[in-house]
Amino acid sequence: ACLARIEALNPTLNAFLHVDAEGALAAARAVDARRAAGDELGPLAGVPIGVKDNYCTTDMPTTCGSRMLQGWIPPYDATVVKRLREAGLVIVGKTNMDEFAMGSSTETSFYGPTRNPWDTDRIPGGSGGGSAAAVASFMVPLAVGSDTGGSIRQPGAVTGTVGVKPTYGGVSRYGLVAMASSLDQPGPCTRSTEDAALLQAVIGGYDAHDSASLNMPVPDLIAAAQAADLTGVRIGVVTEFQGEGYERGVLERFAEAVELLRAAGAEIFEVSCPAFTYALPAYYLIQPAELSSNLARFDGMRYGLRAGDDGTHSAEQVMNLSREEGFGREAKRRIIIGTYALSAGYYDAYYGSAQKVRTLIQADFTKAFETVDVLISPTTPTVAFRIGERMSDPMSMYLADLCTIPSNMAGNASASFPCGLSDGLPVGLQVMAPPMADERLYRVGGVLE
Ligand code: GLN
Repeated sequence: ACLARIEALNPTLNAFLHVDAEGALAAARAVDARRAAGDELGPLAGVPIGVKDNYCTTDMPTTCGSRMLQGWIPPYDATVVKRLREAGLVIVGKTNMDEFAMGSSTETSFYGPTRNPWDTDRIPGGSGGGSAAAVASFMVPLAVGSDTGGSIRQPGAVTGTVGVKPTYGGVSRYGLVAMASSLDQPGPCTRSTEDAALLQAVIGGYDAHDSASLNMPVPDLIAAAQAADLTGVRIGVVTEFQGEGYERGVLERFAEAVELLRAAGAEIFEVSCPAFTYALPAYYLIQPAELSSNLARFDGMRYGLRAGDDGTHSAEQVMNLSREEGFGREAKRRIIIGTYALSAGYYDAYYGSAQKVRTLIQADFTKAFETVDVLISPTTPTVAFRIGERMSDPMSMYLADLCTIPSNMAGNASASFPCGLSDGLPVGLQVMAPPMADERLYRVGGVLE
């Protein structure tokens, strides 16, 4: 059924870049065989799933939405992919994304934009718009994404799906093509809170291959998602993430959701986090800095695109030509910003200052969590915007992640849950919990359904 649905809708939505129908059917049959052999498989065994195209997969290409890696098949599986396979999930294909996960609309993909199933003239969010659109359009019930500044949560919000960014270190980044290593975090994209809990339970937990992996038990996320009660839970509404710049419909749905949480037993407070205002500018120094260093490996020599290799160019020229042809505009913009911010003489002024802001954001979170259990805000200031609307203005594109970035900067757990429609388009509510308290996200999300 999933394959038929993909065949019918993918030509319009472009959510999947690669579909492996035969491989998926074989994987499904293998699950049957394992069951017949008495293998104790978990609750998601046999369930089809889409995987964002920045996870290494040995049986499918991994392009990261870039021309640079067109057709590249990795030599190993990412830990997330390995765990999905071990748990018997059926990987149907690889989902579209902004190039190397830079963007908020999936428009920077070399393979064309993904369209939002709610309105195909609009963006499905980014960078993981392919995963979100695939789940929202019932192509697959589950998908995985990666969230560096909001790339799971913002697509979740604008497609009416659940998107979770676990605590940094909660899910292994091994085999996830690195974008900004201190911010990147894999997580679930699903239609319900319970589905997300089941999926995080499969992909989460310690992995020796990720140096930042947390060696601690995954909390009982499923029980939290099913609790359906918020008695005694203290919820803080972030003062800085409301008012000017937020669409009226978004604020209305948010206010209604707050009442729902109150009715479920939560106590609601208003909490000011002044440093959150500086999260976006600080992110756009730290993120390009780390990205410029991570993308340096794409040099036309080791793997990926090699341009100008016709015997008439020097190695350095081949390197330049490969990068010129292999990277799109946004990747080049950020490489330039990042290398500049890291250059001698500017390092302290830019990267150093941004790291100090990061510490202030962490301090705001720590202080807030002394009085409340979770913080909430709209996930994104507006509903899905139109394709093309923000492509010529990077600043307006960056604003889509205004509310999601603080959690990446601090390494917190954070998620977006659907909270209704504004003029027929989905609105998301963001929940932010302290590091290693992911179960609190699920407890709140479970009530919103
Ligand atoms: N939209 C943000 C950016 O472009 C976040 C991307 C992400 O989370 N991968 O950097």
